[in-house]
Amino acid sequence: MKIICIARNYAAHAKELKNDIPEEPVIFLKPDTAILQRNRPFFIPEWSTNMHYETEVVYKIGKLGHYIDEKYAAGYINGVTLGIDFTERDLQTRLKAKGLPWELSKSFDNSAVIGHFLDPETIKNAPDFEFRMEKNGVVVQRAKVSEMIFSIEKIIAFVSRYFTLKTGDLIFTGTPQGVGDVSIGDKLKGFIEDSEMFSFNIK
Ligand code: ZN
Repeated sequence: MKIICIARNYAAHAKELKNDIPEEPVIFLKPDTAILQRNRPFFIPEWSTNMHYETEVVYKIGKLGHYIDEKYAAGYINGVTLGIDFTERDLQTRLKAKGLPWELSKSFDNSAVIGHFLDPETIKNAPDFEFRMEKNGVVVQRAKVSEMIFSIEKIIAFVSRYFTLKTGDLIFTGTPQGVGDVSIGDKLKGFIEDSEMFSFNIK
């Protein structure tokens, strides 16, 4: 399986990192070794100097498809959860300044945290549900799905022109504003509406 990630998908977050609003989705990939699940702790790698959380809605693909029409895209989703796209911001800033790919700063082991999956139809207020992330009990990111620049249907239509989507593939849909760093001892909890999706410690 593969993990497809969207960058700069919320206007306020693009602004906070001084990026332009994109005209097409900005895409990068993570390998399957990036997945961290079942509330296991995240260990900050020894090479890290500025590890940031990015809270993102994550959709799971339920069937094979390519060149998927936007109007049928919802039928390819069979799970939704909340995740963290861990990003080593200092390294990413250095790579961006040189015009180099970001993978070292975003696709390392355990950089793709996922919670448990919900049936998209059972979520309160779906498809435009609210999600939030609490760091040490304080809400640091909160947004609604409708704040995305590119909807999940548009993302599926766009990426499936380049990558065949397969059952089990994951799509991280970008982070709203409020990204920040983590330190050893922090506790991160993510919620979709009132449901806790993940809760884990930084070590
Ligand atoms: Zn992200």
